[in-house]
Amino acid sequence: QEEYLRKPEWLKIKLNTNESYKGLKKLMREKRLHTVCEEAKCPNIHECWAERKTATFMILGDVCTRACRFCAVKTGLPNELDWEEPERLAESVQVMGLKHVVITAVARDDLRDGGAAVFAETVRQVRKMNPGTSIEVLPSDMGGKEENVKTLIDAKPDIFNHNIETIRRLTPRVRARAKYDRTLNVLRISKQLNPSIPTKSSLMIGLGETKEEIIELMDDLRDADVDIMTIGQYLQPTKSHLKIKKYWSPEEFAELKEIALSKGFKHCEAGPLVRSSYHADEQVNAAKAN
Ligand code: SF4
Ligand code: SF4
Repeated sequence: QEEYLRKPEWLKIKLNTNESYKGLKKLMREKRLHTVCEEAKCPNIHECWAERKTATFMILGDVCTRACRFCAVKTGLPNELDWEEPERLAESVQVMGLKHVVITAVARDDLRDGGAAVFAETVRQVRKMNPGTSIEVLPSDMGGKEENVKTLIDAKPDIFNHNIETIRRLTPRVRARAKYDRTLNVLRISKQLNPSIPTKSSLMIGLGETKEEIIELMDDLRDADVDIMTIGQYLQPTKSHLKIKKYWSPEEFAELKEIALSKGFKHCEAGPLVRSSYHADEQVNAAKAN
């Protein structure tokens, strides 16, 4: 019998599944779209969809060519590229009346451009149909190639987000097909290509990292000129995923946020339920105001 840590009170929240939420779920099926909000069973879904008018879409299929050990996305042979997905997504953003949209994608290591062309087209279509909506892109490392980052940056998203996920020491164990330095490099390249687009990266903690290692990671991100950082608690999606080593307390999160701000991040969101896309609408404004 394996032992699991008991879930602390601050993580016990009720899922709200009211009528408007059901309608939106139906819209996703009709438009054949995938959201991280649903697939990751994100605890913030009601607040995000209904109140803050934000959502995170996952494009380029729902099957990933990688298999990170914290992630619930299916691994296997990828889907056919769907060039009509950008338009369907843009229409859904309009129907949902979103103020901020996060567009992420599975890693497409089978494609030369890592999916950058469809990704950029999605940004353009969303912009065309929803000129008032801010757009945040959260791509995979797209092979770490500058030309792919450029394809996406040229579509002019409002935020370029690329997740570091975990500290340097744990990267090979947590996301075997990614590389810590390649992630930093993708962030650095995007900043160099267009310094006016804020960059952002997210860390999940609770996998056995120390405070010192987290601080080292903050320095690495600042060194790559990253503007915004988010820190959240890792939650094990199923029993076959990596086990939680520690629940960081709300006080510890508050301390990490202070440290991040002292390092020069323009904005930091840190807390047990913070996800890469949590309160992302505020982050755009914070980064632009600076
Ligand atoms: Fe979706 Fe992100 Fe909000 Fe969760 S925090 S519901 S994934 S937009
Ligand atoms: Fe999940 Fe992204 Fe890793 Fe694929 S690359 S397994 S979608 S975290």
